[in-house]
Amino acid sequence: MSIIVIKFGGTSLATPAHICRAAQKVAYYKKTHDIITVVSAMAHSTDNLFAMSREITKTPKARELDMLLTAGERISVALFSMALERLNMEAVSFTGSQVGIITDTTHTDARILEIKGDRLKRALGDNKIPVVCGFQGVSREKEITTLGRGGSDTTAVALGAALGAERCIIFTDVDGVFTEDPHRFVGTKKIGTLSYGEMLELSCRGAQVLHPRASSIAARYCMPIEIRNSFNKKSGTLITTVEGMEHPKPKAMTHCEDLYLVTLVQVLKRSHYLSQILTELAEAGIHLKFFFHGISDEKRFDLSFITPLDERAKVKKILRGIMKKLRIRQVRESVDICSMSVIGQGIGSESKVLTKIFTALSQARVHIEAVTTSELSINVFLKRTYLSRAVRALLKKFHLTRK
Ligand code: ADP
Ligand code: ASP
Ligand code: MG
Repeated sequence: MSIIVIKFGGTSLATPAHICRAAQKVAYYKKTHDIITVVSAMAHSTDNLFAMSREITKTPKARELDMLLTAGERISVALFSMALERLNMEAVSFTGSQVGIITDTTHTDARILEIKGDRLKRALGDNKIPVVCGFQGVSREKEITTLGRGGSDTTAVALGAALGAERCIIFTDVDGVFTEDPHRFVGTKKIGTLSYGEMLELSCRGAQVLHPRASSIAARYCMPIEIRNSFNKKSGTLITTVEGMEHPKPKAMTHCEDLYLVTLVQVLKRSHYLSQILTELAEAGIHLKFFFHGISDEKRFDLSFITPLDERAKVKKILRGIMKKLRIRQVRESVDICSMSVIGQGIGSESKVLTKIFTALSQARVHIEAVTTSELSINVFLKRTYLSRAVRALLKKFHLTRK
């Protein structure tokens, strides 16, 4: 029998009753497939554990944080296995380390290096349903690690890829992938099918429904993913290889709030300055969402970049050092920046789509700070106060809302 990996997010496991309901979904698929179940921590449990650590210290060691946060998934796997047993199915719970999810040593944001999976294969061979803790692994130094917040999606897709599963089903609290976050924008539509590239772009630009690293693994291994609602039986969204030859069309939108725009004004043009600034930012792990190097005059240039707002303190610390060293006179910053992205195969090079975006935004009186394009997306950076208005204008322009 071919394998399906089934993953449940925290909202779908909020109470023991939720867990029992989720187990029935697994029972349904077990009739025709071998099933590996991956579970997140019960709703709010990871946040609650994190909050407890904050009551003790604002600067916990990352190792201890991983040890703490992985406890949430441990509770879920045990309860889930019990719920499956109650339905007369043989189940066995596993931590990430027990199934050999080997990661690097970057606590709180570890990368998967290898999945051994022997115990999973053995459990499947014994006709048992393995129930695996999402979000966690173990380093070669035998330290417990986590894959970053929302990392259970990554566990599910990585296990699917490693074990040659037919597909992964991600059960969550919405009916599938929508044209924008259905909890934030009314009237959005569910999308039937998305290409791997489109899903990856959506995830990376802010759509929480599938973690960017899970999207990335799915794209690399061509692992089909269904996103479905754990609270009903409706068909969901299928993420698979691209459909249609060439038909550039906006399919969805997403946004990312809480960004931070910095401009280093009139930096002296020295060949090594640019690389020095970027190296220092990269070494501190700063994630650049946008980067623009513009000519100010013959001797100087301006450098603008955008990062997540929660990296502001780190960026400021680096800039204090750089300003002195490179004799930078002025730094401008905005803390009220966000981005909005339109996603669709091939749209980034379609001037008609760009024109429609700019026309709709100017009619909605939205001021744009910066724009980037890629083959699959057009990304507009703007002040946060414009976000809702801007998204609504574009959803309407591209017919991405229900009639
Ligand atoms: P889980 O706990 O199941 O992992 P998440 O909260 O991580 O669930 O992801 C599901 C949420 O993603 C939805 O509740 C929804 O608010 C949000 N979301 C953001 N963008 C989209 C989108 N385009 N389509 C569907 N859901 C989206
Ligand atoms: N429990 C973890 C979190 O809340 C992982 C996950 O839900 O995917 O981030
Ligand atoms: Mg999630």
